Amino acid sequence: MSLPEFKFVRPQSLSEAVAILQQHSPAADPLAPRRPPEERGGIEIIAGGTDLIPSMRQRLFEPEFVLDIRAIRELRGIREVPGGDLELGALTTLTEIERSAIIRQRYPVLAEAARTVASPVIRNMATIGGNICLDTRCVWYNQSLQWRKSCGFCIKKDGDLCHVAPGGQKCWAAFSADTPPALLCLEAEIEIAGPAGPRRLPLSELYTGEGDARMNLRRNEILARIILPRRTANWRGAYRKLRIRGSIDYPLAGVAVAIENNGHIQQANIAITGVNPAPVLVKRAGGLLAGKALSESLAAEAADLAARTAKPLTTSALTPEYRREIVRVFTRRALMEAGG
Ligand SMILES: Cc1cc2nc3c(=O)[nH]c(=O)nc-3n(C[C@H](O)[C@H](O)[C@H](O)COP(=O)(O)OP(=O)(O)OC[C@H]3O[C@@H](n4cnc5c(N)ncnc54)[C@H](O)[C@@H]3O)c2cc1C
Repeated sequence: MSLPEFKFVRPQSLSEAVAILQQHSPAADPLAPRRPPEERGGIEIIAGGTDLIPSMRQRLFEPEFVLDIRAIRELRGIREVPGGDLELGALTTLTEIERSAIIRQRYPVLAEAARTVASPVIRNMATIGGNICLDTRCVWYNQSLQWRKSCGFCIKKDGDLCHVAPGGQKCWAAFSADTPPALLCLEAEIEIAGPAGPRRLPLSELYTGEGDARMNLRRNEILARIILPRRTANWRGAYRKLRIRGSIDYPLAGVAVAIENNGHIQQANIAITGVNPAPVLVKRAGGLLAGKALSESLAAEAADLAARTAKPLTTSALTPEYRREIVRVFTRRALMEAGG
């Protein structure tokens, strides 16, 4: 499990980093997603390294270059911008988010979700950008080279077979990060830096829903900032997470809810993670909840919508049926908690 050899580059500015990425992007296909499964060589971005390094040890990636973005000051910090939105640099650590007074007060569901990631030591290194861009996971993929060789490779890496959905052409590896569902509920936007300057889009548009090419992020782009809008500040929220080891583990199912509630629900969002190839907002949940007083039966109706949105397959040690049922239970509980 030693690291493969690579060359290390550490730019001091965002423009320098983008120029290096641009230099290593194949001119023929600059719009290609960053990581086709068969790719060897190339360049990988590293932030906290808490996911990339273990994956490199498992020979899931063998990049020729590793681009360390940690010296780029523009990517750091939490700041309120004119108009009242809150901006988080992509290098903001999960510990900073968990402890930030302004986030705990205005966007409590984000602080709560960040607090459930891995362990305190990992959260000190792990960044919000890395969490948003986290690779998808599958019991057939996140294994050593030896293990994968002995079972036969899969679509996501080195093979053409899906062990989860045999005969299928799609990769079903699950997106398993904790903060994105909270950010989706808060209607967060992201700013992406690239050679043509920055572009801004809703976080929900970053994800493709494909387990292998998971993001609409080009090879020459870097996630720079996350913007939390003023309009969802002070919404009450809750995050519930299923994991095997309570002290340190990825979500096998996770539910975030955020609601604006003045006796009656004004607006609400529900999002799930760990059960689909992308984190997803539960469609029609906001419409169902808005204008009503929260009750157990209303929460159960919304929980049905969430369970139907979840499409877990056998990508982890727990059964898909159990994980879908847990989404239902967690949604109901999270709504009742957020609703006070
Ligand atoms: C034991 C263990 C337990 C874990 N448990 C959890 C858990 O419970 N929940 C959870 O969500 N995660 C978990 N993780 C995964 C990981 O620690 C976190 O997701 C973390 O937030 C990743 O951030 P990072 O900065 O370390 O990312 P890195 O490892 O540096 O990068 C992760 C990916 O994002 C890309 N990337 C990073 N920053 C950018 C950027 N600014 N722009 C474009 N691409 C970028 C990298 O190229 C890489 O593909 C766990 C990891 C370990 C080792």
